Amino acid sequence: MAETTGSRSRHLLKRLSDTLAVEGEGQARLDKITNLIADSLGAEVCSIYLLRDAKTLELCATEGLNPDSVHQTRLRIGEGLVGRVASEASPINTADATRERGFRYMPETGEEIFSSFLGVPIQRLGEMLGVLVVQTKEARTHSDDEAYGLEVVAMVIAEMTELGVFVGEGAALSAPHQQAVTFSGGIAQEGSAEGHVLLHDPQIVIANPVAEDPDAELQRLTVAMDTLKGDVDDMLNMQLGGDSEEHRQVLEAYRMFANSKGWMNRMQADIRSGLAAEVAVEKEQSATRARMARVPDPYLRERLHDLDDLSNKLLRLLTGQGHGSNSDIPQDAILVARNIGPGELLEYGKRIKGIVLEEGSVGSHATIVARALAIPLVIHAAKITREALNGDLILVDGDQGLAHLRPEDSVASAFRDKIAMQEVAQEKYRSIRDKPATTEDGTTIALHMNAGLMADLPSLDNSGAEGVGLFRTELQFLTRSTVPRRGNLAKLYSSILEAAHGKRIVFRTLDIGSDKVLPYMKREDEPNPAMGWRAIRLGLDKPGVMRMQLQALLRAADGRPMAIMFPFVAQFEEFKEARQKLLDEIDRERSLGHAVSDDIEIGAMLETPSLAFAPDQFFEMADFISIGGNDLKQFFFAADRENEKVRRRYDTLNVSFLTFIEQIAKRCDDLGTPVSFCGEDAGRPVEALCFAAMGLRALSMRPASIGPVKHLLRRVDLAEVQAVINMARTSGAQSVRPAVEHWLKTL
Ligand code: PEP
Ligand code: MG
Repeated sequence: MAETTGSRSRHLLKRLSDTLAVEGEGQARLDKITNLIADSLGAEVCSIYLLRDAKTLELCATEGLNPDSVHQTRLRIGEGLVGRVASEASPINTADATRERGFRYMPETGEEIFSSFLGVPIQRLGEMLGVLVVQTKEARTHSDDEAYGLEVVAMVIAEMTELGVFVGEGAALSAPHQQAVTFSGGIAQEGSAEGHVLLHDPQIVIANPVAEDPDAELQRLTVAMDTLKGDVDDMLNMQLGGDSEEHRQVLEAYRMFANSKGWMNRMQADIRSGLAAEVAVEKEQSATRARMARVPDPYLRERLHDLDDLSNKLLRLLTGQGHGSNSDIPQDAILVARNIGPGELLEYGKRIKGIVLEEGSVGSHATIVARALAIPLVIHAAKITREALNGDLILVDGDQGLAHLRPEDSVASAFRDKIAMQEVAQEKYRSIRDKPATTEDGTTIALHMNAGLMADLPSLDNSGAEGVGLFRTELQFLTRSTVPRRGNLAKLYSSILEAAHGKRIVFRTLDIGSDKVLPYMKREDEPNPAMGWRAIRLGLDKPGVMRMQLQALLRAADGRPMAIMFPFVAQFEEFKEARQKLLDEIDRERSLGHAVSDDIEIGAMLETPSLAFAPDQFFEMADFISIGGNDLKQFFFAADRENEKVRRRYDTLNVSFLTFIEQIAKRCDDLGTPVSFCGEDAGRPVEALCFAAMGLRALSMRPASIGPVKHLLRRVDLAEVQAVINMARTSGAQSVRPAVEHWLKTL
């Protein structure tokens, strides 16, 4: 039975590929296909609807419906039965279309006389391209075999679409991968870069989706699958030597999928129906991705992701088109990916000039790495991996969250002008690098930099920073698959201290939990992780790792002065407890005969509003305080810093927040506690200026921001800024920004 279906479908595919092999215009080819399918399935109607834009399907060719409706009839995704096939990414097979949910009558097509309807999605790698429909007057349900045969044909049409077969005069589609496209995404790391696309997962090009010899294709699939299984077994054997249970479980899941009979059987059936082995893998992958989009359970989604990953590996084995090796990275590569892990990004390192991701988030590990490496990063660039080809020209505008792929000349030249202007500005900043950030009225603001990698340290000299105001220690934990060892950490911290040549570095203890989950830590399902078991809360409840880190820090200092601060302190008790742990470690180190300086500063990050109202004793006990504005602002306004819908809703220069910062600065000043601000806002010149006007005398920011901030501070009189802010406050303004920006224009 399966053989009959297979041979019938193979016969149709053969006719299809023979037809398409003849030179012709795109529209003529589409017309031939509909004619051929209708004929072969004994149906009165066959129609192809293709996506015009992200939301609209257009009737592009038909056999049997009114020819005048071609390129006229359009449907929204989800509208009518055709729209429903596209929105649900699954076939509809009915004997009586009028009784089917969502049926919509389109008089211009003359389809009212057709009773049965079989529609299947045309999709490639989970990407919806259109819908293929057959209809008959006779009220009959198509058999499963017929439906399956049509899906196979749809797969070939999808591959042909990708190859640009339907492009041409009056055709349905414009040539793929040639137009200029601008992707509007989110800002994750500022900066601009021009370069050429480097796809993290290269797009597989399949020249011939229809296979002449199914047996040879089956053999190719078997060989590739055997290699894949061997690779997974190797990974598993390598990892079993003491790796974490979670990691092993993931690999076991890989092995289970690789050995899954269902997966293999489905692909073999596809090949018997006439598809090339690669297309059979892609067909299954499309189905997995469609399922992935529908599964709400995060665990199951992850597992489907594993299967997707395996399909990619299998495709690479079959086509021999693999990951470009790292040595192949072109000079001006812009990395384009669906998503990327921090370890993979570190491997590319500074060799890439920009990154554009389809997924990603502002606080993801990859973003942290991109920031640390100062590589412009645009996230949420929907569907860019489908559009971009290796080597395409691309402009990354990290300041606006835009990526211009294959840009028009006018866009490219405006972009280059912008970069040139930025370079002029850089020259200006270099000239004041060794000068202090002293305002016109003689107030000096200490400018420090934020860091998180050894690779950041050269910026200490290049940027003119006085020291490192925040060293995030998470990265060394996040990018490994096991807990780092104390000796290794001590070595790393020690080289960081060496590289700083005596400038002060404030090490922040591990800030994990929330979005930063360690690969080897059991994931806690928390309803609201940003307000959950994170940072110092986790450190105090499970003190093993914190103690190890404190020991590593003290060993690295080896008798030199050091500054250590605890993140996310919400109340005095937490600070007292953490500080005591550090004091205990100091005693222990000394008792073991290790040198520990008398000058170990112990500070706290003020990241929750509660800490601003802690008892005086807290401020007296803390050697210093650093305001973590990223977190403080999200809790002050109750607006998730990770959530694109709300994160820009409240201005940092909102009167309430700025007044709060002023109160913290005053309280610290009254109680003699040194205070600085180390959130991202410290690196924005207007914000930095307002913080200085509110009384802050130390700011810590990305190295690239030090020049612009210093340049502005050196041009202003703080008393004047205060007057402008106070006027705006008394006028009832929501934010002081308009007033300050207006005043700056008069300078
Ligand atoms: C902050 O919250 O402002 C901060 C500096 O810490 P992180 O961004 O690492 O949470
Ligand atoms: Mg924070």
